[in-house]
Amino acid sequence: MKTIIEPFRIKSVEPIYVTTREEREKLLAEAHYNPFLLKAKDVIIDLLTDSGTGAMSSDQWAGIMKGDESYAGSPSFYRFESVIRELTGMPFVIPVHQGRAAEKILFTIKSGKGKYIISNTLFDTTRANVEFAGGEGVDLLCDEGRQPSLVAPFKGNMNVKALKQFIADKGAENIPLVIITVTNNSGGGQPVSMENIRAVKEVCKANKIPFFIDACRFAENCYFIKQREKGYENKTVKEIAQELFSYADGCTMSAKKDAFANIGGFLAMHDPELAEQSRNLLIITEGFPTYGGLAGRDLEAIATGLEEIVQEEYLKYRIRSIEYLGEKLDAENIPYIKPTGGHALYIDAKAFLPHIPADQYPGQALSCALYLEGGVRGVEIGSVMFGKYDDDGKLVSPDNELVRLAIPRRTYTQSHIDYLAEVIVEVFKKRREIHGVAITYESQYLRHFTAQFKML
Ligand SMILES: *Cc1c(COP(=O)(O)O)cnc(C)c1O
Repeated sequence: MKTIIEPFRIKSVEPIYVTTREEREKLLAEAHYNPFLLKAKDVIIDLLTDSGTGAMSSDQWAGIMKGDESYAGSPSFYRFESVIRELTGMPFVIPVHQGRAAEKILFTIKSGKGKYIISNTLFDTTRANVEFAGGEGVDLLCDEGRQPSLVAPFKGNMNVKALKQFIADKGAENIPLVIITVTNNSGGGQPVSMENIRAVKEVCKANKIPFFIDACRFAENCYFIKQREKGYENKTVKEIAQELFSYADGCTMSAKKDAFANIGGFLAMHDPELAEQSRNLLIITEGFPTYGGLAGRDLEAIATGLEEIVQEEYLKYRIRSIEYLGEKLDAENIPYIKPTGGHALYIDAKAFLPHIPADQYPGQALSCALYLEGGVRGVEIGSVMFGKYDDDGKLVSPDNELVRLAIPRRTYTQSHIDYLAEVIVEVFKKRREIHGVAITYESQYLRHFTAQFKML
């Protein structure tokens, strides 16, 4: 069969309120041309994030009812622990309320003044936790990962040569941890190969540096390995995941991504001493080690989600639906980061709107245009999110001006994706009529969440 179907039926639905263009013009003006300030009910297709926005299965909902809420020693914890032990091979499993809580604990212990934490690309909360603890985050992404229009199979790989050089320059004693993000979220959801993981592990081992995995999208990464890396065609995604984790000394995970949960996460490791230190911190901020900031019901939902996420029919539909969106854009020569990633498509707003200069925020202008055209909400990843001002108050822009369309898991169907493609194509046809925007209000930190704009 040629058609890849959603491998699920729908048992419970959430209505979408379909706004008119006139309504959206008013709503966007009231939101000061910042889609973050829109009310979710006024959005038709919400692609702001894939974090915690997926649909749970009937088995997960059954787990919500079955969850045991005992303060200590809940059976839901032991199920959670055993699923994660089997997947990762790591004996020490520490639940936390979401990914950044695992990072906070890990980097409070490992990071510090004069220390470097190396990654392919640190996710923004990971970098924030490394730097809040006094250390410096260092991204050593491979060269292919830096070229948006280049098609290559593993654009999330770490640059192993640069890693060796960095260790030689700074000294292994100043590098308490190397952490690889799979897939590389900030780099377009691009996967990391098993070969690269092995090579990084070898360098870490030779230098006695612990090697961790930021495992938020481990299943999507492992499906790409199965599709693209020699020797993995006939392995199951679960077997590939088990091999991937076998090279790591530990991992952090947000269960809001590849565990189909609305909240949760964990920290897991081999080192008993690190586990004890971690649990000491856990008790201060998250809770007792058998619930760690979660309800027993959440632990059940996560355990079931981790079993479901490695199912290949699901991953086939997941990865294919984003690739399918990419093909629709290819047909119209609409520029985006290639190839499509595991969880999102990133439109290249700089190439889409070449007439809008960086200081008129092409990504923001494009995300407004997508909302006005079809009620689609994406997120600007460019000069609004990462722009800084120099001493003369002039904007210093990042390399890329992007709009990320993150696809929630099991939430939208093919007709939603068809509609989305139509909206993007329509906006592309009218692109010359789109104007830039100017900032009228901004906060000092993380300004993209609350900034206000006007249309030029
Ligand atoms: C989402 C995410 C995190 C942080 O997880 P939260 O649950 O949002 O705290 C860390 N790393 C990556 C790669 C992520 O995508």
